[in-house]
Amino acid sequence: MEPEPEPQKLSPMEKGSMELKMPSDKASSSRLPVLGLGRKRRLDKENALEPEKKRIRGTGTTIPMSCLKVPTVATMPRTKKQVTDVKSRKPISTIPAPKPAVSSTTARKGAGKRPAWDVKGQLCDLREEFSACQVQAEVLTRENLELRSRLGPAEQQARTLEAENKSLIRELTEAQAQTKEDQLELVKLGARVQELEEFLHTQESLIQSMQEKQLQLQEDRKDLTTRLEIQEKQLQESVAALAKSQAEITAQAALLAERTENLHCLEMERRHLLNQLQELKGNIRVFCRVRPVLPGEPAPPPGLIFFPPGPHGDSQPSTQLSLTRPSDDRCSIIGKLPSPPIRYDFSFDQVFLPDSRQNEVFEEVSLLVQSALDGYPVCIFAYGQTGSGKTFTMEGGPGGDPQLEGLIPRAVRHLFSVAKKLEAHGWSYTFVASYVEIYNETIRDLLVRAGGAQKCQGGECEIRLAGPGSKDLIVTNAQYVPVSCEEEVKSLLHLARQNRAVARTTQNEQSSRSHSVFQLQISGKHMGQNLHCTAPLNLVDLAGSERLDPGLSTGPADRERLKETQAINSSLSTLGLVIMALSNKESHVPYRNSKLTYLLQNSLRGNAKMLMFVNISPLEENFSESLNSLRFASKVNQCVIGTARANKK
Ligand code: ADP
Ligand code: MG
Repeated sequence: MEPEPEPQKLSPMEKGSMELKMPSDKASSSRLPVLGLGRKRRLDKENALEPEKKRIRGTGTTIPMSCLKVPTVATMPRTKKQVTDVKSRKPISTIPAPKPAVSSTTARKGAGKRPAWDVKGQLCDLREEFSACQVQAEVLTRENLELRSRLGPAEQQARTLEAENKSLIRELTEAQAQTKEDQLELVKLGARVQELEEFLHTQESLIQSMQEKQLQLQEDRKDLTTRLEIQEKQLQESVAALAKSQAEITAQAALLAERTENLHCLEMERRHLLNQLQELKGNIRVFCRVRPVLPGEPAPPPGLIFFPPGPHGDSQPSTQLSLTRPSDDRCSIIGKLPSPPIRYDFSFDQVFLPDSRQNEVFEEVSLLVQSALDGYPVCIFAYGQTGSGKTFTMEGGPGGDPQLEGLIPRAVRHLFSVAKKLEAHGWSYTFVASYVEIYNETIRDLLVRAGGAQKCQGGECEIRLAGPGSKDLIVTNAQYVPVSCEEEVKSLLHLARQNRAVARTTQNEQSSRSHSVFQLQISGKHMGQNLHCTAPLNLVDLAGSERLDPGLSTGPADRERLKETQAINSSLSTLGLVIMALSNKESHVPYRNSKLTYLLQNSLRGNAKMLMFVNISPLEENFSESLNSLRFASKVNQCVIGTARANKK
């Protein structure tokens, strides 16, 4: 037997192919036992096809002679080499043939066929041949035994390999399924990779742009740093300058405080002097104003009203007025001598000529109005017959012409303006306006809005104390409107004009037969000095002062007019009496005799400042009424009310 060639060291691939071709006994050395199985099956098949041969090999001695001619070993090649050996009828390599038998037979064959008679020789040949066959049978039997002994492990190995094959097929199936899954996963991952690549691309471009930005920002930062350094340097300089300025400010603040205190003292001094000036002028003053002759009115005879020059000529405002009654022609008719013209001279605090402008008039009353801001109650009346110019003086002319604005709009404008200036001195003011009319001793609110509750009509507006312990008087159910600018006051005046009761009289088509009282309650406070002052400013447009017309009939309309006139005259005479009583310091002042004086009592008392305009018509036909008005005003002018005291707390 030839030694097995030393197994070469092979690569796994080569090894695998070798194993496929040359399965070994060791199961572990073969990973693909298919061929091994095939070999087994082939062996089985050969075995099945040649049972007879097997039996011969198994029994040995019972082999029929006919079968001995063909060696059975040739049908079971162990290897390819062995198969080749069998085909070539050579003895198998593992079992050497008995050389002597073969050589004798071969020698005999070569010697030719024995003659028929040489039975002994033939027998001898047969014996030789038989013994050769026996030897060969023994060899084959041994080989058979050996093959049988190797068949068991081979079958075992085949089973192992089959199990292994199954497991590998299973593994392969699983691997294939896994591969499919992996492929799907791979596809998904591919898509994801693509997606991520796109994202990456976007991010890269973003990063690039951000890098560019960063570069730009770095540049900017450099620039800013430079600027910051400059600014810091400037700031340091500024801080130093500021410290210096602060020291200066502190010094200035001390100076300012000192000056503010001085200013306050001066302000109080100014108020005091202003008050003294007003007192010197008189706490009750009377100004006379003669209106011009209006277009369409008959020109009065020359000298009817005369304005004698004052002691200082035309440089000083006029204070004198003379009324001359024309001579009475009727006297000559009845045979008597005509009565000579009578001259009536009057002297007032000031006389305004017909050509006086509204602003000139206001200039003379502005300081008086301003006293209200200092806490002095102020009352300005317009007295005169209907059509003499009272409303013109108080409210202004028609058409909203600013040049023709009267005392009320000018006074509020002046007060608002002065109050604003006084804010700089630490004063703050509030203003509340009301506007009522007194008609036939009935009070009516002139600020009631259209459609609003007309509660004050029907005698519901009454004069009451503002509250328990208060001396201030208010009109119940009347509007008290806070105002802070001229426009607000103007709209109130417009509303009042619409609401005012206007009655036709024979003297003037649109004469007011009622007193209208515009009241501005002023409150001021100085927080620094803890000062408070309150005072009312009253601007009163009195009803026409004309006397009862003896020509009135006894009809219902005339009776109504008679009642109106009596009420007006009564209240006007009460006003005169009140002023007289105050002037004479009488213990009883008849404020309650009329609604007008009752309402205004706080603005008429000793600490009040009063101004009366007596308005005169220049017409001859109004001579008597003008004379009456001037006489009434003269009486008032002679009154002196005690030294005024400001309502200060
Ligand atoms: P009263 O109110 O006394 O009845 P008004 O003020 O209504 O009188 O004046 C009567 C008319 O005279 C009005 O048309 C008014 O415009 C006009 N009038 C009054 N005073 C002047 C004046 N100083 N200058 C110009 N017109 C005046
Ligand atoms: Mg009027």
